[in-house]
Amino acid sequence: PQLEPRNLPDVVESLIDFHMFEWSQTGVEVDLQVDDATLGVMADGNQLRQALLNIIKNAIEASPPDSCVTVEVTRRDGHAVVAVHDEGQGIDREARKRIFDPFFTTKSNGTGLGLAMTQQIIEEHHGSIAVESREGHGATFVIRLPLQVQKA
Ligand code: ADP
Ligand code: MG
Repeated sequence: PQLEPRNLPDVVESLIDFHMFEWSQTGVEVDLQVDDATLGVMADGNQLRQALLNIIKNAIEASPPDSCVTVEVTRRDGHAVVAVHDEGQGIDREARKRIFDPFFTTKSNGTGLGLAMTQQIIEEHHGSIAVESREGHGATFVIRLPLQVQKA
């Protein structure tokens, strides 16, 4: 990837703005919460957008009608964090072990490649991706990227 200095909240906000109309047609609301408007990271803009898009699309696909997907951008122990939460049925323990495997899908028309690709992109950004889920209480995917140290 071509890593360049980027402001993570700007990347997330422009991605959501760009897709907002399309997503509004699904009946699922996508809500952005930015806690810290300045979070410098090193990123390949296209790849990072692709990774975030995969996660948000999965969240929308998992969402019941009239529910909300929350995208939260925060700073947490030296990292820039994007957390994507949905109100779907969540992911059980057995599936959680496999969701990042290529071709693992529970969808009739799924490829099972979205999360595998996303994990690879995030690792190439020296970050990490994890999932938290309680069955019946939705899923939260958490992406962490190292904060870029400000040059003096
Ligand atoms: P695909 O979307 O083509 O199935 P992905 O790699 O994007 O492939 O996701 C793999 C699987 O992980 C999905 O089929 C689904 O079972 C599970 N999954 C991913 N995101 C969520 C989510 N937000 N809620 C519930 N299950 C999810
Ligand atoms: Mg997917």
